[in-house]
Order: sequence, then structure tokens, then C-alpha cells
Amino acid sequence: MNNRFNAVRSAIDHKEVPLSDHPSRVSEYFGEDVFSHNIMRDYLPRGVYRDIMESIDRPEPIDNKLADLIASAMKAWAISKGATHYTHWFLPLNGATAEKHDAFFTPAGPGSSIEQFDGSQLVQQEPDASSLPSGGLRNTFEARGYTAWDPSSPSFIMDRTLCIPTIFIAYTGEALDYKTPLIKSMTALDEVATEVCQLFDRNINKVFPTLGWEQEYFLVDKHFFYSRPDLTLCGRTLCGHTPARGQQMEDHYFGSIPQRVSAFMKDFEYAAWRLGIPVKTRHNEVAPNQFELAPVYEEANIAIDHNQLVMVVMEKIALKHDLRVLYHEKPFAGINGSGKHNNYSLATDTGKNLLSPGHTPKTNLLFLTFFINFIKAVGDYPGLLRAAIATAGNDHRLGANEAPPAIMSVFIGSQLTGILDEIEKKVKNRKMTPDEKTELKLNIGKIPKIIFDNTDRNRTSPLAFTGNKFEFRAVGSSANCGPSMIVLNTILAGQLKLFRQDVNTLMKGKVSKDEAILRVLRKYIGKSRYILFEGNNYSEEWVREAARRGLPNIKNTPAALKEYKSDKIANLFSETGVLTKKELLARYEIRMEQYAKVLQIESRVLGDLAGNHIIPAAIKYQNILIENLRGLKETLPEALFNEHSSLQIHTITKISEHISVIKESVSKMIATRKKANAMSDPAKKAYTYSEEVGPFLDLIRYHIDKLEILVDDQMWPLTKYREMLFIK
Ligand code: ADP
Ligand code: MG
Repeated sequence: MNNRFNAVRSAIDHKEVPLSDHPSRVSEYFGEDVFSHNIMRDYLPRGVYRDIMESIDRPEPIDNKLADLIASAMKAWAISKGATHYTHWFLPLNGATAEKHDAFFTPAGPGSSIEQFDGSQLVQQEPDASSLPSGGLRNTFEARGYTAWDPSSPSFIMDRTLCIPTIFIAYTGEALDYKTPLIKSMTALDEVATEVCQLFDRNINKVFPTLGWEQEYFLVDKHFFYSRPDLTLCGRTLCGHTPARGQQMEDHYFGSIPQRVSAFMKDFEYAAWRLGIPVKTRHNEVAPNQFELAPVYEEANIAIDHNQLVMVVMEKIALKHDLRVLYHEKPFAGINGSGKHNNYSLATDTGKNLLSPGHTPKTNLLFLTFFINFIKAVGDYPGLLRAAIATAGNDHRLGANEAPPAIMSVFIGSQLTGILDEIEKKVKNRKMTPDEKTELKLNIGKIPKIIFDNTDRNRTSPLAFTGNKFEFRAVGSSANCGPSMIVLNTILAGQLKLFRQDVNTLMKGKVSKDEAILRVLRKYIGKSRYILFEGNNYSEEWVREAARRGLPNIKNTPAALKEYKSDKIANLFSETGVLTKKELLARYEIRMEQYAKVLQIESRVLGDLAGNHIIPAAIKYQNILIENLRGLKETLPEALFNEHSSLQIHTITKISEHISVIKESVSKMIATRKKANAMSDPAKKAYTYSEEVGPFLDLIRYHIDKLEILVDDQMWPLTKYREMLFIK
């Protein structure tokens, strides 16, 4: 029996994993495996705890004595929870999480040992990790890489190992991870956003971005996963005919969660809650086997760590249930792919959401200031946002009428559009009459809250305002949220700086503060109109309209990444202190390389599949048909044979045609791949993969999928979509 039927049999015979009996009161164990501030307080003398809290909030490194005290508290707590090892846990540029475990245990003379972990081990490590991508930042002999503790994200225990979130930098100080520039972008944003807030409210002393991600994913029975080399090696199917029934009945979305999946979700949520990850929502998504989960939002740095952690934990728990999680943006053709919506807002130390309209004219002006500056920032950098989300996987999803197109635009709803119109009309460049001012303020002040909670929803926009936050929907499901958050923080920081300057200039010319703010906002509204779009982003009209407006419509990753090479972007990142030009270029190179590698692997796997799975099966079936034809010819009178054999001959010819196109395309694809592989410039290589290798993937797939419906089902070697996609 071939792999396919073994897999189907195993999946059908799958025994339910007995439901684990988790306590129903989540508050009893939420954060059980996290070294939270409360636990730290319990483990430390009072004064020490206070000193630590103060020093965590400061940008300077924590002093050695304090670090030793925290380390010893962490060690005692971790060992009491059964941990044997510790690790610096970081987010390298390969997009995964990285760990290198060390045991607490240290030999102490013959036959004895102690458990050791001190401040220096907590604060900094040199994991080497030289095989992680560095984009040429570590090419010298001094290629050391360091990890350094990020005290703002709590440590946790996973697999009996104390995991300490850290940044990862080169010997020369350059960032080799997603966390370092994220923290820098948060600092840049905090600085200028706080200044802007103080124009309205002197009590605000800190501003930080909040992130609530929504993670989409597919589940497949693990036997199917391993029965298909493309799923195992690429995380997506490189061929496979769409089943007669896909998502057209619209019966999966929000449907009752299959028993097996529900058991997985419960075990997974239990693990997530113990790790202090506030997962809250779970539901079926649009495609069969597709699901979503969403937590309560958190400060962006912690939210990103939690998303990365969730992705790891889900995979571990899924295996216990004989399932595999697919985070790929497009694991199955012909049905929806997966994204990761990033809900973004700004919060203050006074507990305010700056993107939430208030009840008074004053707080509404504060809201409008951040709202309009955000839109202006996106309007000035649509290409950079596109670059932030560009990956080989996401290219399959963007613009596929299930996900926002590759054109960046902002949706704000009719209510807020009306308000922007109003401001633009009324403020002009002249001084407003007191009446006009009151009217404007009242108009803003009068907006009932309820309207915002029901903001008209536009599910097709890549960036939609949803009442009290912007939802960035173009992020890929497998992505680290870091790059998107870094870009949003940075463009907003840059924009708010301009705003502050513009307002200052007017105020120096004796324009009152409110008046100055309104005038500047008015100017920005005019300048950002072109990025606002309220219609259907999936439509052809929008593609044409966007072209008229001059909005970029960048179809693939290499073209999108080119943005990183522009001086405008380099200046923005260096002026805000987020990334140096060198760091930016390193990231550009790494992502070009990653893109080429993904296509290289896919192309190799598809070549193998075609050669040793598909073509042999097709030939075998074709031979049966030929044999049959020969028999018919011997048996039937000539006239009858001529009448009955034409369809048979047609099928044989079709199979022949498909086989020969596949064979020819595979050898051409290999030649192109060789050409691309010989290129040393990562960008050129990525372009060649995109433009010359990529089209072969589509072409070969087309012919394989045609063969799938011609060849005898019993002979088809690869597990079919209809078998994989309907978990019960
Ligand atoms: P939906 O968008 O599906 O209608 P919600 O608006 O309730 O659902 O929330 C979706 C996501 O938005 C959740 O992950 C939630 O945590 C997040 N979210 C809500 N408020 C904020 C905020 N102020 N900042 C960041 N994310 C938020
Ligand atoms: Mg949402």
C-alpha cells in the first residue's frame, strides 16, 4: 500500500486523546509558569524589589548586585518548579525562536555538585549562534554574538527550562534580531508621543504601543503531513486538485469546532494560560481545517514574545493530538490562506487609549491628533509597510481575494471620513471664528461612543480603523509581528516629530495652541487623502483607482524589499535611532536570501515529486489504458473499435501531453535554478527565483493537478485535499 492509503487508514483509526482535566477556574493557574513581578516580590526582600522595579524602568543596565539578587530569586523559583536548565530565549532573523540550554548544575569537586546561576549569567551570554542569519554583520573573525536580558518581558518555564527573553546583538553592537529594533522603536515613539500628549495633558509621561494579534492556522492529521513531502518540507502543498467541496458552503466559519480540534485547543489553552499568555478567543475560520485564536492585547514587546511562544507551544501540543499546525500563508490552493491581524493602538501611563475617541472636545482633539498623524504616516510610507510583510509565503495570499491586496491603504469608515471633511472645510488656513471652533468641537464631542463600537467594517482593507485601534491585516500568519510593529512605531515616531515641529512653528507665530494643532491637522488631512479608501479593496476598480492615485502595487517580495534600499527609509530609521543603515541593509540581504531559499526548496521538492511520484504513477496508469486499448482492438470488430476507442485515445494523449510538459518544465526549472544559484548578489538571485523559477512552480502544478483527475484514484501517490481537509 502506498503512503497515502497508510495515512488515510491511520487518520481514520485515530484514537481520541482523552480530554485532560484542567481546572475550570483559569485564574487559579494563569501565569503559574511565569516569573512575574508578584513572584519576584515574594522571593526578594522588600527594598530590593523596589530598587529592581525602578531600575527596570530606566534605560541604563541593571547593576551587578541587583542582577545577582534577581538571578538567585529566579533560580530558587525555577528549581522549585522542577526546572533543571536555563536559556536565553531570543528572536533571531530567521523568524523562529532560539534557545541554547545550560544546566543549573555545576560540578563542585569529586562526586558533588551545586546548582548555580548568577547575575552575570542572567544579564548577558555569548551563545555564539554563528549559524543564524546575520546579513554579513558577522563576517569578521570577531564574529561573536551576544544575548542580553530584556527585563521588560517576563521569564518563564517551558519544558523544565527557565527561558529568559533577551535581545541578540553582534560583537559590534549591531542588532541580529527583531527585539532590539522593536525596543528602540518603542523608545523613539514614547519620547515624541509623550511630548505631543503633553500639549493636551501634562499627566501623561509615557506612551507605548499595544498589540493584539489574531493568529490563523490550519491543522492536519500528522499522518497526512508526513505522507506529503511538500507539506513536510515546505509547509504547503505544491500540488493538489481542489476538492469538489471546499469552502463554498460557508459552513466551516464559526461552525461547531470538531471534537478532535477542540481537545487540542483546550490542552493548548491550558499551556498558554500557565505561561501567562492571555488567549481569549477561538473559532473555526473560513476554510475547512482552518482556525483562529486571539488573546487580549498587551504591550507590543510582550505581545510579540507571546505570539512567538504561542506558535511554539501550539506545535508541541498539536503533536500530542497527532496533529500538525500549518502556519504557512497558503498551505492549500483554491481555499483561503492564513493571516495574522495585528491590532495596533497606543496607550499611556495614565491608562488612556490614544486611538479611542473621548467624550470631551479636548480628548477628542487628542484622539484626532494621533488618528490623523497615523494616517499621514502610512500615507508617507506605504511601500515600507508593504516591505514589512513581504515574504514568499505571503505573496501567495496578498491580493488573492481573501486577503488585502498588495496595495496599502487605510479604511476609517464614513463617520470619521465625515469628521475629517468637516475639519478640512472649516479650519482652512484662516483663523476660525469662535463660533466655528465651538461648533467643530461640539461636533467632535457629540459623537456618541456607540458609533465607534459599530464602526462600519471593511474586511477587505489592509489597514482598517476599528473603533479604538488600527487593524493591520496584511501580515502573514507565519510572520513574527516584529517587523510590522517596528515599521508602525517608527513611521509614527517620525511623523509625530514633524507634527511637533509644524505646531511649534505656528505657535511661534503667535497662533494659539488649539488653533495651531487644528491647522496642522487640516494640512495633513489634505495630504493623506490619497491613502484613504472606503470601497472594496478586492475589486479591479480599486487596482485601477490606486494606480491613478500613484499608490504602489507591489506584487512580489523582491520588489517590495527594494524599499529598504531607499535613502528616505534609511534616514527615517537612522534619525529615529531604530536601525543604522548597515543594519537595515543586512536585513534587506537576509530577507532576499530567505526568499530565494524558500523558492529553491519548493522548486527542488516539486521537481522530486514530479519525477518520482507523479510521472511514474501517470505512466503506470497510461500503460493500463494502452493495454486495454490493445485488448479492445483484438476483441472488437473494427467499426465498433473505432467508435469506442476515441475517448480512450484522447485520455492517453492527454496524459502524454501532461507528462511531457511536466518533464520538460522540470528540466528547464532546474537549469534556471542553477543559473540563479550561481548569483552572488542576494537581490539578483531573489529576482531570478521570483521571475524565472516561480512561474515553473505554477506551470508544473497546473499539469500535475490535471493528471490528478485523470489517473486512477487507487494509483495516485499523494494524499488528496479531500482526504486531508475535513477533520472531524
Ligand atoms: P474583532 O476585531 O474580531 O471584532 P475585537 O475588536 O474585540 O474583535 O478585538 C480583536 C483583537 O483586537 C484582539 O486581539 C484584541 O486584543 C485586540 N485589541 C482590542 N483593543 C486593542 C487595543 N487597544 N490595542 C491593541 N489591540 C487591541
Ligand atoms: Mg479583528
